Amino acid sequence: MPQPQQPPSILWFRRDLRLADNVALDRAVKAGGPIICLYVREPGDPLAGANGAAQAWWLHHSLAALDTALRARGNRLVTMTGDPRHLLPWIVEQTAAGAVFWNRRYDGPGRETDTEIKATLKEKGVRAESASGFLLHDPMALKTQQGRHYSVYTPFWKAFEATYQPPAALPPPDAIPSGTFDLDGEALDAWGLLPTKPNWAAGFESLWQPGEDGARTSLGAFLRGALGGYAERRDFPGETHTSRLSPHLAFGEISPHAIWRSVSSLKDKMDQDDPTRFAKEIVWRDFAWHTLFHNPRLDSVNLDRRFDRFEWRPSEKDLLAWQRGETGYPVVDAGMRELWHTGTMHNRVRMIVASFLIKDLLIDWRAGERWFRDTLLDADAASNPFNWQWVAGCGADAAPFFRIFNPTLQGEKFDAKGDYVRRWCPELARLPNELIHRPFDAKPGVLERAGVRLADTYPRPIVDHAKARDAALAALKTTRQDVPED
Ligand SMILES: Cc1cc2nc3c(=O)[nH]c(=O)nc-3n(C[C@H](O)[C@H](O)[C@H](O)COP(=O)(O)OP(=O)(O)OC[C@H]3O[C@@H](n4cnc5c(N)ncnc54)[C@H](O)[C@@H]3O)c2cc1C
Repeated sequence: MPQPQQPPSILWFRRDLRLADNVALDRAVKAGGPIICLYVREPGDPLAGANGAAQAWWLHHSLAALDTALRARGNRLVTMTGDPRHLLPWIVEQTAAGAVFWNRRYDGPGRETDTEIKATLKEKGVRAESASGFLLHDPMALKTQQGRHYSVYTPFWKAFEATYQPPAALPPPDAIPSGTFDLDGEALDAWGLLPTKPNWAAGFESLWQPGEDGARTSLGAFLRGALGGYAERRDFPGETHTSRLSPHLAFGEISPHAIWRSVSSLKDKMDQDDPTRFAKEIVWRDFAWHTLFHNPRLDSVNLDRRFDRFEWRPSEKDLLAWQRGETGYPVVDAGMRELWHTGTMHNRVRMIVASFLIKDLLIDWRAGERWFRDTLLDADAASNPFNWQWVAGCGADAAPFFRIFNPTLQGEKFDAKGDYVRRWCPELARLPNELIHRPFDAKPGVLERAGVRLADTYPRPIVDHAKARDAALAALKTTRQDVPED
């Protein structure tokens, strides 16, 4: 029971919108006084709070779900807008709070803000404590024997495996004591996070359940179903063999430790390959964040600085065709349309569309990164630029630039029956399987029978892949890297 004389604590929620496995919440409850549960919308900071328009939709629903969960425990979420460096000390003063708790974030601007706030609060004699819970391993805690950070995944994974022990689970508290404070929050609806005219997020509603309950449901369904066969089938976009946990992780609605514990508990009951492969993917997320931690400008600066010399060919027209899914390459178009309608895209297809933008169109990876940031529900400050740099060949442990995906062959390999393309490019649905990824090779009679008119119902390819590949390899020489001569 809270003791009336105890000062309140502030629990500052950020990308940890959950009650289970929340170390900062646990500390606030243990502090014993009433708790002010706060979410601050930080305007102007693209890395904190909602990144893009799609994520604004998610954020709205996730905050609403968190508020409901808090109310069920006797508390509520106070939502406010402002620069937390000023807002937090002001709230402390208004409420005579004695402590502020939060879970750490790892992006550059976020870390700077937090360090400043901690110093200000400590100066005022206020307890300010940060905890970890967004990643499996704190970036400062995993280093090579020489004390450097890892830039190659396999040794990172080995070091991780050798040292990681998931912490004990922290169940959500039964009650979260509240008090009466003179603190006006803002109505969530007034933030205008949901699109209205037009409501382009209508398709999201039936596909996603933002919030902690939704995260738990997704994890449960994955463990009961798609995890079996994950190692072998995760690359096939027409199937559902991945967890779809990424937006929940991006908003911290589930802790990676909780996922780890659940998957580990199944290890003896199933083929080892599936949980091990899945665990390695979760650790890629950590690797991306560790990379960001040590390279705060990951979204703008090539990790391999030789790529600073690369001569990109900006083309608004081609960029638009790519964004709209009108490139004339079916698997690329299917992916870009899936992204627009659902806020996500299968990982294999993300690699294909990214390769297409960078290597077939020679458009700077940063333009693709920005589009993904605006349209992906799982976009985060680390995984998105990390993976774009990885595909471009300038990132950490990256695929070499000269390995250029052929979008037609990729489609035929990973979507052999064309299920994925038929779902997202219905105008091609009646083409036979052997032509679904190459309508440009179909004879006029075949196209006619399938109801396809190139350059009318479906675009002709905006580039010739073979020529584009040669141009990309020639452009690569400007970076003076070793390029195979073949
Ligand atoms: C160009 C490009 C951009 C990407 N942008 C993002 C992004 O902004 N946010 C994001 O979470 N993922 C990003 N990814 C990685 C990956 O595509 C998604 O994590 C995955 O598709 C999410 O689906 P899932 O949860 O069903 O994945 P699962 O296969 O079920 O994987 C489980 C979890 O592992 C993590 N994970 C898997 N692959 C990767 C990876 N390559 N890098 C980092 N973490 C990974 C994710 O947290 C994911 O939820 C990107 C990949 C590419 C090629």
